[in-house]
Amino acid sequence: MSGVKTGLQLYDTKNKETKAVFISNGAEVRIYCCGPTVYRDAHVGNLRTFLLADLVTRTLNFSGYRTKLIQNITDVGHMNEDVPDEDKMLAQSSKENRDPFEIARDYERKFHQDLALLGVKPADGYPRASETIDLMIALISKLIENGNAYVGTDASVYFSAQTFESYGAISGNRLDALKPGHRFEYTDDGAKRFHADWALWKNAGSRTQMVWESPWGAGFPGWHIECSAMSLKLLSGHVDLHIGGIDLRFPHHENERAQSNAADGSEVVDLWLHGEHLLFEGRKMSKSAGNVVLLKDLIAKGIDPLALRLCFLENRYRSQMDLTWDSIKTADGTLAKWRERFSDKSGEIDLEQVATNVAQMALDINLDLDTPRALQKLRKVEKDSTLSPATKHAIALKIDEIIGLELTKVMSKKAVDSNIQELLLARANARTNKDFKLSDELRDKLQSAGIEVKDTPSGQEWNWL
Ligand code: AMP
Ligand code: ZN
Repeated sequence: MSGVKTGLQLYDTKNKETKAVFISNGAEVRIYCCGPTVYRDAHVGNLRTFLLADLVTRTLNFSGYRTKLIQNITDVGHMNEDVPDEDKMLAQSSKENRDPFEIARDYERKFHQDLALLGVKPADGYPRASETIDLMIALISKLIENGNAYVGTDASVYFSAQTFESYGAISGNRLDALKPGHRFEYTDDGAKRFHADWALWKNAGSRTQMVWESPWGAGFPGWHIECSAMSLKLLSGHVDLHIGGIDLRFPHHENERAQSNAADGSEVVDLWLHGEHLLFEGRKMSKSAGNVVLLKDLIAKGIDPLALRLCFLENRYRSQMDLTWDSIKTADGTLAKWRERFSDKSGEIDLEQVATNVAQMALDINLDLDTPRALQKLRKVEKDSTLSPATKHAIALKIDEIIGLELTKVMSKKAVDSNIQELLLARANARTNKDFKLSDELRDKLQSAGIEVKDTPSGQEWNWL
């Protein structure tokens, strides 16, 4: 079957250029997105990357292309970069004193809950590493057969980096420049032949949990081989688009590319898409900095989860973004205001205006996901007094298929944050008590929070400004 070039242009990290997503089998865009390591809750940074995959699939579906998205669940083999031989799952298991599989299922369930709250359309498959060990063993055997992998002196199996000529093409980290000890993974422990070789299968040694039988003895898979095995199998040997956070560019994606290409004898991934990292209040999110923010923290503050989606859309995926509580709250207010406006269906629909405005916004998004520009246009629509509410409603409803903000949802006014509710109540009381000075002060306060109050014979009424 011949391929189809889609209208979606994305920046390819490997070729350092923006290019059209290609449907190589002519039927559906085959997409792979690196999923969560389920030893803890996903933080808002992880969610930014997962929302990138959702934005891409929604954009393609909007234009009528079919997609097949696979996102793995890493529940074994993801080693801690700073602590030799520490599997993230097992470390958490001993911390919580709970079975590692129980922990994995728990965080996996929470991951799906978060995605649902953010309106992420489910992927076509969420394969678990622990349930695809056979696939990995078969792939490793093939790599040994092909001469790209070998059994080290410690009975672990290693990929021989030097057998893969174009190593470093994604990240620019060429083998001759990689120094031993660059990361724990590259420490020359004597068992492997070359310092940049990496483990495909690790011998169990004294480890007793999360261990499987293999032709090389009991052990467990490395993290990188998981993504090669799953993508090759579940996407039938070719990935049109591969998605992940920028930190995965090296070594994870570099190693995945070497494994997949060496096994298949082709360039398996057509386009490598990377989302930039998210900072919180100016700093990298980390436990030690105490600024790891979860979706449930937003919900606890009465913030609509989709306010987070709006924050991300306001920033292009390729820019490092600094999220703050202020920006989340502002987005929450904007969302409420838009829903108030866009849920109004009164008047005649101008179909031509709907088609033109939607097409322009979709065009921005198709040009390397320029969502900030599309949102600027949406703001203009919202303020355009020449368009009827019904026309605005129709535009919002349609573009929402891509941006997923529930723009036309009818909000009950009770959904405003409790701060504003208190101010409204205090002002109504001030008027009842004929304290006009206080009531005017409160009116100003509400005004700066984006709320206009009116006094009518039946009492105080309010609207978003
Ligand atoms: P993990 O669960 O740590 O394996 O990460 C899951 C995904 O989140 C990967 O694609 C990472 O690249 C991505 N990621 C991790 N930290 C951040 C961050 N601060 N901002 C954006 N994406 C991130
Ligand atoms: Zn991966």
